[in-house]
Amino acid sequence: MKQYIVASNWKMHKDIQEANIFVLNILKNLLNQKKTKVILCPPFTALFNIHEIIKNTPIGLGGQNMHYEAKGAFTGEISGEMLLAAGCQYVILGHSERRHVFGESDDFIRDKVRKALTVGLKPIICVGEKLEQRQAGQTLEVVRRQCDSALSVVGEHEIQRCVIAYEPVWAIGTGVVATPEQASEAHVMIRKLLAAKYGQAIADSISILYGGSVKSSNAATLIRAQDIDGFLIGGASLVEDEFVRIAEIVDEYLKQKES
Ligand code: PEP
Repeated sequence: MKQYIVASNWKMHKDIQEANIFVLNILKNLLNQKKTKVILCPPFTALFNIHEIIKNTPIGLGGQNMHYEAKGAFTGEISGEMLLAAGCQYVILGHSERRHVFGESDDFIRDKVRKALTVGLKPIICVGEKLEQRQAGQTLEVVRRQCDSALSVVGEHEIQRCVIAYEPVWAIGTGVVATPEQASEAHVMIRKLLAAKYGQAIADSISILYGGSVKSSNAATLIRAQDIDGFLIGGASLVEDEFVRIAEIVDEYLKQKES
């Protein structure tokens, strides 16, 4: 069964104390969203204490990045094994800021996806085109290339542990959200690509999230668009009421769909 997911990406925001207070303040509300999988991805320093707060709940915990090596002389890096030990089940890989600010290549991201699966983490694999690529009509080609690369190391028995996040770079942190049609076009293509590689039944069970300026004011429309199975949220996930409201919107949509 495909899970609808609302995942936060706090980026480099909130110290340990701020993270504790934030999670304690919204915990009850998040736990009321019974049909939606909520995943929190705080900075590394806050992972363990958030794990202590949510460990007996269905709320997931994820790192925002990892290296593919287990240990070694990689100053500033963190391994999948370390994320697991801190209580993570998920890891965001290939986020546009990693690709375009820190210069991570498709190959590097592919190797991290492989390692995440090997250690037992669920990768949230981010893909998405830059503005100039969209303007040049290359959106689907870029997204396909990024997916093909990351999925080249994912076997049929592993793909159901992966989440894909389509995040157009021009929509991340800009306040410019993709239209439901723009998002769906990419999501439909990703689903087709998954179906061609793993079969339709498996493709239908994979969560494909949209990310890029999602807010409570646009979430209800986006969640109804074809092949959008939830959100990866940056800015709005740092605001208690906003994040809770988005999770409620997805949960309300799922309840409506079932009734
Ligand atoms: C993100 O960082 O993954 C993201 C989608 O950010 P924002 O929601 O702020 O656009």
